[in-house]
Amino acid sequence: MSRIVYVNGDYVPEEDAKISVFDRGFLFADAVYEVTSVLDGKLVDFPGHAKRLWRSLSELEMASPVDEDTLLAIHRELVARNDLTEGLVYLQVSRGAADRDFAYPKEAKPSLVLFTQAKSVVDNPAAKTGIKVISIEDQRWGRRDIKTVQLLYPSMGKMMAKAAGADDAWMVEDGAVTEGTSNNAYIVKGNKIITRQLGTEILAGITRAAVLRIAAEAQMQVEERAFTIEEAQGADEAFVTSATTFVQPVVEIDGAAVGGGAPGPIAVRLREIYLEEGRKAAL
Ligand code: PMP
Repeated sequence: MSRIVYVNGDYVPEEDAKISVFDRGFLFADAVYEVTSVLDGKLVDFPGHAKRLWRSLSELEMASPVDEDTLLAIHRELVARNDLTEGLVYLQVSRGAADRDFAYPKEAKPSLVLFTQAKSVVDNPAAKTGIKVISIEDQRWGRRDIKTVQLLYPSMGKMMAKAAGADDAWMVEDGAVTEGTSNNAYIVKGNKIITRQLGTEILAGITRAAVLRIAAEAQMQVEERAFTIEEAQGADEAFVTSATTFVQPVVEIDGAAVGGGAPGPIAVRLREIYLEEGRKAAL
């Protein structure tokens, strides 16, 4: 069955959706995106994703095609039209179509595209087994705080992980872990959760913000600082977070088992609380 997708004001079957070949998202990766998970047909942490979208747009001096209420209404309409109970909504804003030129064209009108993906995100086998990661050099551009669609290096990283028999890669810069290819990275030592501080080197994960809040509420200590692969290999636990994987344990880093090679209790607990609270607050 064909999906209904949203393109610049219209809800259309996916095979009829069209974007110009001159769209700067296509030519320059001049576009930003958000992914919001859907549980019980509702959007998890929509206000957080909307807020980050406005920030990404403003960092790139790109106009927003719609306001937040309209964006929420489009998300909901798409979920309803596709009968989506569990999965995600992907949204992309590009600067729009204009004759090819490096300078931002003044006349371009931003394009807005959204589509759904049905997926069982809660019953993910990796949440029970944990995932294996390898470390790779972080070769992305320097503004990783802006959620752009320039995802080629992260795609290469996933392929390197697969080729090495692992599930994902943690990227390392100047000796310290920045983040996973599509998630934020954490280690646990005793009652302390350690994750890299925010900055231009990483994306400010919406799930990260929620998980750090939950951890503090549960009287766990949180330390926002850089850590090395060696420190992570010697940690009690490791995990990653993202909108569609929530909290996912990491049980092996560059071939070394972490915390006995099984998901640790803190990661498991944080996942439970995140899912419970995320469902409750979903819109
Ligand atoms: N870092 C990177 C590089 C990502 O691609 C993602 C997911 N898009 C995240 C972190 C996690 O962000 P969020 O929790 O908002 O999904």
